[in-house]
Amino acid sequence: MPHTTNHAEAYPAVIIGAGQAGVALSYFLQQRGVAHVVLEKDRPFADWHNHRWDSFAMNTPNWVNVLPGQQQAFAPHAGRNDYGTLRDAWEFFEAYLSAVHPPLRIEEVESVGVNRDGSWQVTTNHGSYNADNIAICTGHASRPKIPPIANDLPPSVDQLHSSEYRNPADIQTANVLVVGSGSSGVQICHELAACGRFDAVYLSQSGNFTLPWTFLGIPTYSLMRCLGVFKITRESWLGAMMFPKLQQHGDPATPPSPGRLARKYGVRRVGRASAVDRGVIRCLDGQAVPLQNLTVVWCTGFQTSYTFLDVYIREAVLNDAGLPIHERGVVSASPGLYFVGLRFQHTFVSQDIYGVGQDAEYIAEQIAARATSSSPCARSGTHSTLHA
Ligand SMILES: Cc1cc2nc3c(=O)[nH]c(=O)nc-3n(C[C@H](O)[C@H](O)[C@H](O)COP(=O)(O)OP(=O)(O)OC[C@H]3O[C@@H](n4cnc5c(N)ncnc54)[C@H](O)[C@@H]3O)c2cc1C
Repeated sequence: MPHTTNHAEAYPAVIIGAGQAGVALSYFLQQRGVAHVVLEKDRPFADWHNHRWDSFAMNTPNWVNVLPGQQQAFAPHAGRNDYGTLRDAWEFFEAYLSAVHPPLRIEEVESVGVNRDGSWQVTTNHGSYNADNIAICTGHASRPKIPPIANDLPPSVDQLHSSEYRNPADIQTANVLVVGSGSSGVQICHELAACGRFDAVYLSQSGNFTLPWTFLGIPTYSLMRCLGVFKITRESWLGAMMFPKLQQHGDPATPPSPGRLARKYGVRRVGRASAVDRGVIRCLDGQAVPLQNLTVVWCTGFQTSYTFLDVYIREAVLNDAGLPIHERGVVSASPGLYFVGLRFQHTFVSQDIYGVGQDAEYIAEQIAARATSSSPCARSGTHSTLHA
């Protein structure tokens, strides 16, 4: 492994990313007295500010949206089983930031490597840091995932990803195809169909299961908690069965179901978009969507991106799909490297607001145990300069 030498601020721990995962981890590190810094390239909770549409509704009910150390309820003016708005989310996260008050720096991490003494070197667009421990909290949804057929569409077809969509005014064509029927696809398709501006609204279905609001009169999330669904771990037999399916198909979707969108608004349901051919998008169920006067909204999810990790670290810690090889967020191949906020990191709800706290606490315990006085950065003290 190559090593670097440098003059940099030293910390027992550096957190990369100030979303719910990074801020929750900071909360638990503060509780344990572990000095650290949180590096954020944009603004805290950037994903919620930059990548949601105006009419976004939460996928989880208000009572489920809790974070460790947060006193303020999510959407306190609304019912506990209601689903909040984007503004509710912004207010909740703003209050969380004030409550935790993480040691935040607005700096983009450009590279992460290893120093001669075994500590980590983090280089940002403003300088560099040495750390005994690095926690990567850059989100499981950091980069839009768009299928390759997008490249085959002619320039006359407008295209955008759900993370770029704001409202129906973004779409200038008479027809629109929403690809993907997870929560994002269904919400956006619903808004486009309900506005009545388009000649045709197509929904290319991806097979996500629709979670009803209630089941036998009981709010679905309450039932899920009672049945222990939130506690299903990745290591359990049920978790091992669910994880690949969720990776492939995405999370269950919130209502309305595609069937209801078809019945109420005349949305044209088609199969998975599979190829571009002679003026149409062919779908796996044999149907075709004409390219004429069409905008495609890709609601096809996201992927992770760890390009800031030096290539030899990436090779050691990521699998062929580019996902971290870890146990509960601990990377045994690279001591001192951790992740928080991964999909199904430990439990079914790890990537959700509800579940991230448990994982952040576990990782804080690992970091606290490692951040001993014998470690290079702890020895040199916080805010000191290392001459490695
Ligand atoms: C469309 C959508 C809807 C969702 N709805 C819900 C919901 O209703 N309920 C729920 O519980 N969960 C929901 N989630 C899941 C989850 O709550 C969010 O994905 C959440 O944003 C994940 O938090 P995070 O901290 O792991 O990552 P993020 O919020 O993505 O935060 C990562 C941070 O890292 C920063 N960063 C990235 N790279 C660098 C770098 N190189 N240097 C410095 N900083 C960097 C980013 O700017 C960002 O601020 C939703 C997710 C999506 C995509």
